[in-house]
Amino acid sequence: MARRVLIADGIATNRIAFKAALAAARYEVTAVASAAEAVAELALGRDDLAIVDGGLADLDASGLTRLLAARPHATPPCLVAVDDDSTDIRASWIERGAAGVLLRPVDRPWLLTHLRALLRAREAYAELSRQVATAARMGFAESPATFERAPVMAVVANDRAAAGRVRRGLDTRLGARLEALTPDQILGGSESTGRRDLVVLADEGEDSLWLLSELRSHPGLKRAAILVENAADDGPRGTRALDLGANALLRRDAGPRERAAIIRRALAQKLELDRLVHQLDANLRMAARDHLTGLYNRRYAMQHLADLAGRTRADGRGYGVIIADVDHFKRVNDRLGHAAGDAILAEVAARLQSNLRGHDMVARIGGEEFLIALPDTTPAQALIAAERLREAISSRPIYAAGEAQRITVSLGIACSSDASPDMALQIADAALYSAKAAGRDCTRLGEAPRPLHPAAAPAAIAAASLRG
Ligand code: GH3
Ligand code: MG
Ligand code: MG
Repeated sequence: MARRVLIADGIATNRIAFKAALAAARYEVTAVASAAEAVAELALGRDDLAIVDGGLADLDASGLTRLLAARPHATPPCLVAVDDDSTDIRASWIERGAAGVLLRPVDRPWLLTHLRALLRAREAYAELSRQVATAARMGFAESPATFERAPVMAVVANDRAAAGRVRRGLDTRLGARLEALTPDQILGGSESTGRRDLVVLADEGEDSLWLLSELRSHPGLKRAAILVENAADDGPRGTRALDLGANALLRRDAGPRERAAIIRRALAQKLELDRLVHQLDANLRMAARDHLTGLYNRRYAMQHLADLAGRTRADGRGYGVIIADVDHFKRVNDRLGHAAGDAILAEVAARLQSNLRGHDMVARIGGEEFLIALPDTTPAQALIAAERLREAISSRPIYAAGEAQRITVSLGIACSSDASPDMALQIADAALYSAKAAGRDCTRLGEAPRPLHPAAAPAAIAAASLRG
């Protein structure tokens, strides 16, 4: 689908020139003559980018600059075209929300490179937003965590003089932690592991751009903003830097105010991306969790069990499955109320969890039913583990509704080195049923209803029982 660019320029010939340059590159262009019309057009939400004449008479009155200065990504990125340019003019536009400043007459390749870079960043943000929204629609929305911390910036250069010059030009009021590193240090040395929000490449020359691609693919710098120092008249290198993934260029003649404005904008966008990624991670984590107990949920547990069975088939090491079910829980609920029932379930979950090994998995797979997966476990070990869990619940009362409650669980176990997870669950379920029938508060190890493989069956499914 063609990208839409809004041109807001008071002079008809400028509009025509922009339109011709962009239409040839297959952009769809909407051209307006005033800032007020631009605001109305942006409100329709169909433009991907805007190019605004910095000399528009109604710019401030229309609220367009206020719109641009809103949160990064809230409006399409906007390039401002100017007739005079100095570091202060550029700084003032970027401070007011512009994504960049174009000096007229605008060089067409330069313009198209900027548009590509801005669209790429906007698309990355939009894609993440869509993923967060999808997770939210599926009911996995975690309340957004606040995400405040001091940003970390690195100036990277082989040339110490260049690094020093760039560092001195950076505004200390940015509140960022600032490091100076060589390319080797940031890529492979002991300094390579730290998290950085923004990297400035200070070396000059075409050669120095190799580092840009390296940094882009470095695991610790995936979302870092990367800014490249570039001579104002070196258009070809600037173009290449943007196409290789630089977020923005820092003109060598830029004063501290312009540098601070560009860095602030790049940092704000980077932290906005981090916030989304953080939220998506939290949402996805939640998709695997049970709200009440914080344990894994049924969906996760079944996948986990399938993976465990797959590994077992590969390495031959048996695994254990335990289903634990709270005894007479309906009575508990009826007597104490649902809220106290919930509190008891949370405590049962905590006790199960704290009596297992780190690599065992415990999930709540039904109302008062828990599944435990024990990798690399023999039937004898599984019985010991199940007994330990049973005692962890029954040996101490659980406090709920203001008094000590005696709560017990029954447990059914299956051990397998070749059974499918479904079969293991069936066996554990049947064993649980036996435990209930035997009077509850006890543990049963299940038997396969029929040999799975005649030769392997006796070793695969052991039969034993323990009375609680
Ligand atoms: P048994 O010993 O045979 O397992 O008896 P039971 O009463 O535990 O079994 P039953 O399946 O008859 O009842 C389970 C009860 O668990 C029914 C329901 O009230 C309660 N329950 C299920 N989910 C929740 C929950 O999320 N919170 C609370 N408080 N109770 C729940
Ligand atoms: Mg029960
Ligand atoms: Mg039950």
